Amino acid sequence: MPSPPRWLDRTLDLFQGHAVIGMALILLLSLTGLSWSLHQIFSQQLQDAALKSARLYTATLSEFRSLYTSEVVARARAYGMSVTHDYQATPQAIPLPATLSMLLGNRLGQQGSGVSTRLYSPYPFPWHAQEGGLKDDFGRQAWQALQADPEQPFYRFERQGDQLVLRYATADLMRPACVDCHNSHPDSPRRGWKVGEVRGILEVDQPLDSAGLSARPLLIETAVVTLSILALFSTLLALVIGRLHRASEKAQGLSQEMSSINRALEREIIERQQVEVDLRSANDRLELLATQDPLTGIANRRGFERTLSLEWRRAQRQGSPLSLIMADIDNFKAYNDHYGHQAGDRCLQRVAARLHARVRRPPDLVARYGGEEFVIILPDTAAAGAYALAEAMRNAVYELKLEHIDSATASYVTLSLGIATLVPKADSSAESLLQAADRALYRAKAAGRNRVEAGQELSPSEP
Ligand code: GH3
Ligand code: MG
Ligand code: MG
Repeated sequence: MPSPPRWLDRTLDLFQGHAVIGMALILLLSLTGLSWSLHQIFSQQLQDAALKSARLYTATLSEFRSLYTSEVVARARAYGMSVTHDYQATPQAIPLPATLSMLLGNRLGQQGSGVSTRLYSPYPFPWHAQEGGLKDDFGRQAWQALQADPEQPFYRFERQGDQLVLRYATADLMRPACVDCHNSHPDSPRRGWKVGEVRGILEVDQPLDSAGLSARPLLIETAVVTLSILALFSTLLALVIGRLHRASEKAQGLSQEMSSINRALEREIIERQQVEVDLRSANDRLELLATQDPLTGIANRRGFERTLSLEWRRAQRQGSPLSLIMADIDNFKAYNDHYGHQAGDRCLQRVAARLHARVRRPPDLVARYGGEEFVIILPDTAAAGAYALAEAMRNAVYELKLEHIDSATASYVTLSLGIATLVPKADSSAESLLQAADRALYRAKAAGRNRVEAGQELSPSEP
């Protein structure tokens, strides 16, 4: 969609900021428009009224002339009276119809209507030479137009001084009662007239103001009432818009404040979420550090104790057997003494990895109990299973074939293991299981090392 022009944008901005100014401007424009439109209506009405009045005037004069001709002139002639333009100087004479109708027209004009009439032609009789004839442009044009179409009046509005005047011309036709006189009169400027021919022009001049006077007060009254209503309406509208504008500004301010608070809250939530994530990962890391043996990577004693406590309670709830293997590298002091402490560390790492690799089930746990001692928790595992695993571990370490020249047991590094298994009772403790495994280990050492011993004293719990 094309963007609105800049000037429109600016105008709208101005209106938004100054609703009252905007309303005043609209009011002014409306008033101007209304005045112009009223002026147009008024002028049209004046013109229509003037035309109507001129038409009536013309018809009245024409009717009077016909009536005078038929009712007076005809009778007067029968009584031997003469009919002449110079009737005042002639005894027993009456005026010509044209002369009398012009007299009537002038008298009516003096009554205050301001209307004037004229009867003229391009062929004036000598006694009319002064005021007759086609005097101006209007007369000449009217003569041509009426010659072409005698039925159609010719008119136009002309400004005369400070007045607008309607000049209304109609054709004056040659009548049967007049044609003989015009053709035979010794002073006639033209002969050969025919009945019905246009012999002259009857012009009625109607000033417009007098015709429109009656309409003006009503128009002015209407305009004043309309303008007042419009002004009142615009003022009310401006007030309402002003209020709405202020309310909208307030709402906009509140909404901006709300959204900035929302944005701050969102930022805080995101920051807090990040802090939580960091904290959790730091905790995980701490947890790992706290429960992991740094040398071998398997669980340390703390990790072992935590798992043992959990698994002990679980076995207690489920009534399932829990096995524990304690393993100790044989003659390790001698190993360290011979190969050095660092080789001893490497040996511990390899043994730990072997033990760890042997356990398969997720809940099983291999931990470094301390020094060269390891402990393996085997949840839900009976003595036979624990024994088999311990034997497998012993073998696995032996199979590493780590040379141990100073060992009193074998030429390689070996492992002694003690097993304890029980189904935890309400009155027993995890400590007892640990002690039993330790005792079994002690027996393995005593029996010559590189072997597995099970805690016989716990056998009643074995499945
Ligand atoms: P036994 O067969 O009776 O278990 O004899 P042993 O020599 O293994 O047992 P003893 O308890 O006498 O010696 C344990 C040795 O283990 C002592 C110490 O030098 C060694 N040791 C303990 N912890 C570490 C360790 O973290 N690194 C190394 N390199 N050696 C360790
Ligand atoms: Mg030891
Ligand atoms: Mg040892």
